[in-house]
Amino acid sequence: MEWCVLLCAFLLLGFVPIQADVDQSTLAALQIHKNLNRSQEACSNFWNYACGNYSASDGAKYVDNFELVEDQYAQAMVEFMEGDLEFVDSDVQLNEGPALRLLAQIRTYYNACTNDSQTDWPEEDFHSLESNEWALETAKFRRHGLNAVFFDERVDVAYNDSLRSVVQLKMPAPSSSYSERRALQLLKLHHSGSEAEVSRLVEQLRQLEAKHRQEEPLVQSWTLADLEQKIPQINWQAYFHELLSGHLNGVLFEVSDVDYLRELGQLLGNTSRSTINLYLRLRLTVLLKQTGPARRCPKTCIHHMRALLPLGMNYLYNRYVYKNRNLVDNIQLLEIFDSLKGMFGKYLEANRLQLSPAQLSYVREKLSTMKLRVGNLPEETSPAFYDSHYESANFSDYHHLDNVLEALSLRTRLQHDVLRLPHSRLDLRRYYVNDDVVKARTSPFYENERNTITVPLIFLQFPLFDHRQHSIFQYSLMGGVLAHELSHAFEHEGILFDADGNESPVGLQIRDTKTFQNAIKCAAQTPAVSLKERLADLNGLQLAYDTFFGMDHNSQLYTYRPYAFESEFQAPQLFHLSYAQFFCGILPPVLGHDRDDVRVNVNVANLRQFSLDFKCSPPAVESPPVCEMWRPTASSTLVSA
Ligand SMILES: [Zn+2]
Repeated sequence: MEWCVLLCAFLLLGFVPIQADVDQSTLAALQIHKNLNRSQEACSNFWNYACGNYSASDGAKYVDNFELVEDQYAQAMVEFMEGDLEFVDSDVQLNEGPALRLLAQIRTYYNACTNDSQTDWPEEDFHSLESNEWALETAKFRRHGLNAVFFDERVDVAYNDSLRSVVQLKMPAPSSSYSERRALQLLKLHHSGSEAEVSRLVEQLRQLEAKHRQEEPLVQSWTLADLEQKIPQINWQAYFHELLSGHLNGVLFEVSDVDYLRELGQLLGNTSRSTINLYLRLRLTVLLKQTGPARRCPKTCIHHMRALLPLGMNYLYNRYVYKNRNLVDNIQLLEIFDSLKGMFGKYLEANRLQLSPAQLSYVREKLSTMKLRVGNLPEETSPAFYDSHYESANFSDYHHLDNVLEALSLRTRLQHDVLRLPHSRLDLRRYYVNDDVVKARTSPFYENERNTITVPLIFLQFPLFDHRQHSIFQYSLMGGVLAHELSHAFEHEGILFDADGNESPVGLQIRDTKTFQNAIKCAAQTPAVSLKERLADLNGLQLAYDTFFGMDHNSQLYTYRPYAFESEFQAPQLFHLSYAQFFCGILPPVLGHDRDDVRVNVNVANLRQFSLDFKCSPPAVESPPVCEMWRPTASSTLVSA
């Protein structure tokens, strides 16, 4: 705890609010120069050149710009949580009434998180063995948010109807093996008597998963009656009756890994109930520890709450902290987004992939209906909705650990409540993303099912974005990020979803065309951690560049006037440097993407203008051709480079 207090105090002191009267473009240029490492070659390792001085320039206070904006957010929210409510009251008189009940609930949660000193999870308090039915036991723990112990059960939308909520059932993802290991560690510490039985169960589960794990398992659409008939080894009635409080009518199931589930039912049917109960308790303890926060102080509590209670935190941040910039940012982001869409429309006119008219109109329809949401908040604005959303959660002023359990249970209820809506149809007016309980998203993201890009409000802060900056900064950094997200709609996975977010045979047709497959092969020549990220990266930078400079831009043909805020770098060079700022940081181990330096270097290598913009001498040996998928081929003006 002391370590945390010290760190928090340090961060509080180190926080310097950005003055409104300082020219934001000058600040952005200054930042770029600070991160620059001139001992490196822009042409051979651009990330090192653009970001190589990052740690030295910032005193390594933050690992990257994400951590910086997250800290600014936490600082502002701590002040809000600890400020007096009069400011809130006087402030809201101008507008419609505030969601006061929500505000009180969130403050209660915050108070317990920052004041309660209890840190140990009383695992033995959780459900002792109550029933003889393992499926019912599992459902009781599922109600507290525990998932993917024996099988993964969650509410999502149907693959062929993005507005229809369904229950998806499958084997646990390999990622849950980490929780498994931690549960076994706890077992060793506290339950030496039962160690052998639980370890044996875990080993049996592992073997079962390994035996049945498939790359792309078949998905079946079933009713509850189908489910009971096809997998009679599991008491689904007991499980869902407990979990959905009896609301089982008309629920649709999407089931994968059927053979796994059948054998699982047999295995658990032959396992002692007390072993199953003990293992569930251990796994719930691990979940609560992971949800955290590990060390509690005002800022870590804010980060924890942003992930666990996103609607409440986003609402309060939007309303009381962020509100002034809301309108301006919205307009500018939509302008950038519309320009990107316009340029992608031009790409489609050139039809590099030689798509048929029907395929082309599929892609056009998807592009034209794609939406941008600023802030992960529902359209619904009535305070009554916000007040009632968390109503069923009973947060305590004093017991943080109880609150975490309460919040996790609330999340499971909210997720399953959708099944009670008429025909289980999603209410889009009240839709927002409520996913990871440990770490909230900071970077913009695209959702296939909604055909929507969401920009979290936390992202809209200097140095990532500021409405007062010159457009070259906005179109390179924010434009680059939005173009990356837009491109996710048209890579090999995204293309399968149509404009309404339903999987479509036309998408599959496009993916199977020779031209599309060749473009994928080209992008995969340099090995990538994730092919879809690689594709979104390459097209994203090309699209952002073309949107700002125009198609077939050739910097050799222009004389550039220096910007008032930047005399050294010419516009195209500044564009690349500003784009790279998104990736600057002390290279951490990353999941899902390539490492940031690899990403930047591969991306600029596949933008045919980059070497012209930095006047790179032609390589001694002939370099491989750039990889482009949707971007029209170069016209004659550029080939001479
Ligand atoms: Zn991505």
